[in-house]
Amino acid sequence: MRTYGQRCTNLLPAFAELLFPTHCLGCGEQLGSSRPPLICATCQNGISIIGQPYCPCCGMPGSDRLCTACLRHPFAFDQARSLFVYQEPVRSLIHQLKFDGSLVGLSTFAALANQADAAALFHAPDLILPVPLHIRRLRWRGFNQSLLLTKVYFPMWKQKIQPDLLRRHRATIPQTQLDGADRRSNLEGAFSVQKPQAVQGKSVLLVDDVFTTGSTLHECAKVLRDAGAAEIAAFTVARTMA
Ligand SMILES: [Zn+2]
Ligand SMILES: [Zn+2]
Repeated sequence: MRTYGQRCTNLLPAFAELLFPTHCLGCGEQLGSSRPPLICATCQNGISIIGQPYCPCCGMPGSDRLCTACLRHPFAFDQARSLFVYQEPVRSLIHQLKFDGSLVGLSTFAALANQADAAALFHAPDLILPVPLHIRRLRWRGFNQSLLLTKVYFPMWKQKIQPDLLRRHRATIPQTQLDGADRRSNLEGAFSVQKPQAVQGKSVLLVDDVFTTGSTLHECAKVLRDAGAAEIAAFTVARTMA
């Protein structure tokens, strides 16, 4: 026989849903349950997990040979891998996290992590470095989304996460407002390694939200390479296909 307390506990989520109905983070449709992922069936179908073949360096899907972007401007990292194509509903999830400061999508990212295993894409690194924000943007947003995503996707390697080793000491124009060549020059000299001896000879995994042109990861990898990092891999949750 259930006690009064147990019955109340069972009823609470039902009341919560009645009072605060949950909506799909992709299209806004009302969902029948508040259990993550907060994505309706239609939006779930839009999620595209990136699989082989892809460029051995930047991870661009399509072929297992070096892509034209990598041949034209070699990246400073050894390999970049992403889980999802940057399209709806993943685009909305990342946008809400970055620009609306909404943490509600994090549990959905965690639920999606069960569908696509980020750690399987890499050898266990010595260090995991989330791409840092400039202090002004960090204060404005209140959190670094790359650090939160690192914790969601690599909980088994949480001891290796070092959020303060890389520093972004120059505020830059948001990369989304620039194209190709301007993106790289915008970021030149924006990052530095705080304790170069800590990365010397180490294998490093960089983590960011979206791979667009790869300029941000390239600049981070450049300073890590100069500091003596032995291997540099990069992970982003999503990747554009352009
Ligand atoms: Zn939806
Ligand atoms: Zn490539």
